[in-house]
Amino acid sequence: CGIVAYVGYREAAPLILKGLKRLEYRGYDSAGVALLDAENAGQTGLRVYKKKGKVADLENELAGKELNANIGIGHTRWATHGAPNDVNAHPHESHDRKLAIIHNGIIENYAAIKQNLLRKGHVFRSETDSEVLIQFIEDIRKETGSSLEEAVRQALQEVVGAYAIVVISEDDPTQLIAARKGSPLVIGVGENEYFFASDATPIIEYTKDVVYLNDLEIAVVRAGELKVITLDNTQTTPYIQKVELELEA
Ligand code: GLU
Repeated sequence: CGIVAYVGYREAAPLILKGLKRLEYRGYDSAGVALLDAENAGQTGLRVYKKKGKVADLENELAGKELNANIGIGHTRWATHGAPNDVNAHPHESHDRKLAIIHNGIIENYAAIKQNLLRKGHVFRSETDSEVLIQFIEDIRKETGSSLEEAVRQALQEVVGAYAIVVISEDDPTQLIAARKGSPLVIGVGENEYFFASDATPIIEYTKDVVYLNDLEIAVVRAGELKVITLDNTQTTPYIQKVELELEA
């Protein structure tokens, strides 16, 4: 239901948790984060923490954990497929745990995609439609040898439904890939940093420059650069505008 993601030079974990609290008004039943420590990415991989309940419950879960990261994704879930519990909370990881996704919305044809993946030997940890999407992306990537960006694009071409997603990969601590259809997604463009969120409230204390991603667009941030392509693979020029929203104290 709520998305916050960050890549840049700040501590990602507190920023994402604060952003998720700004989105609490949207309603949710669980919360989670995936963090990547650029310097130690090879050893630690993605660190995923998720918990049924409030963002405050997630914060309790995080107490004493290693949270060092300058890139990460966070989510508040409003369950549509699968009960509200720790396992069904987002982020969801790929089978090899090298990728993680946060997703708002519903993948309507998830059952058909899941059947195909089950036949190929995939094992699922959760009951969600969202986990099916990240395992589908992983599968395309392995089958075709294509980049993550291209695998996301190909997967989304097969998807029926509504979504805002952000994908993070252990293999590139400078990269976040986001996309939307139906569900909102705002990108904050800072200096050497980027923010993604369901609305601008988690972003505006850091930058007023935002891009409202259009339906059927994919945003790729990699090595400090933002690129936007359409689902049919045409590059578009992102329109950066000043956000007008004022933040309540
Ligand atoms: N359909 C997904 C799920 O049930 C995402 C729900 C949401 O938008 O939070 O996990």
